[in-house]
This record gives sequence, structure tokens and C-alpha cells, in this order.
Amino acid sequence: MVEEKEVVSEVAKPTKIAVIRCDIVSEACPGVGCFKAFNERKVHFENYDENAEMIAFFTCGGCSGRRVHRLLKVLKKHEPDVVHLSSCMLMEGFYPKCPNLDTIRKTIQKAGIEIVEGTHH
Ligand code: SF4
Repeated sequence: MVEEKEVVSEVAKPTKIAVIRCDIVSEACPGVGCFKAFNERKVHFENYDENAEMIAFFTCGGCSGRRVHRLLKVLKKHEPDVVHLSSCMLMEGFYPKCPNLDTIRKTIQKAGIEIVEGTHH
């Protein structure tokens, strides 16, 4: 007689992702490119499995990224694994270069959250 073994299903904890984007660019961009890249697991989202979740998507609040600190405090309660800096924050040319990137990066590092540079470019 074959003994029935208890099947223990291990459900992997989903990776929780947040995106910070440029407030100026958000006036002209609804964020479709970021979400498309996430939904299709492309470009800077390609390493996530199907269980990964986008749990937050917010702007920096305008120069000098004043909103980031406050929002990260709230975000931390939801245990994010990683914060992406949107591609629009990192590009130069069509939009002016963000003068506050280093400060924003330091604020995220201080909050103890991993940073990924970029979303869909
Ligand atoms: S701080 Fe940088 S990301 Fe934020 S609005 Fe200014 S240029 Fe855009």
C-alpha cells in the first residue's frame, strides 16, 4: 500500500515593485510605457517572474523631489522589494536632465530599498 504524503505547496512571496517618475514628465505622459514594460516583463522588468506585483507608481513631487521621502515612509509599510527610477528621470535630450537624481537615489538608499535604474528604455 502506498502511503499518501502530505503535499506542502510553497507559494513564493511576490516581488513588490514601486516606480518613481518625473513629475514634470507626468504632465505629458500617462505612464503607459512603464506599465507595458512591466506587464510584458520587458527591458528593466525582464527578470521578474509572473508573480511580481507593481504596488506603487508615483511622481517625485516636482523639483527637488520633495515628495520622495514622505512617500517612501508610507511605501515601507507595504514592504517593497525594489524601487525603479523611471526611464524619463534618467534620460537627457528631449527632457532636461534631472538635477536631483543623486539626492533622490540617496533618499531611497536611506530607506533601505533596492534601486533599479530605468523602466522601459
Ligand atoms: S526632481 Fe527630477 S524627476 Fe523630479 S520633477 Fe525635477 S527633474 Fe523631474
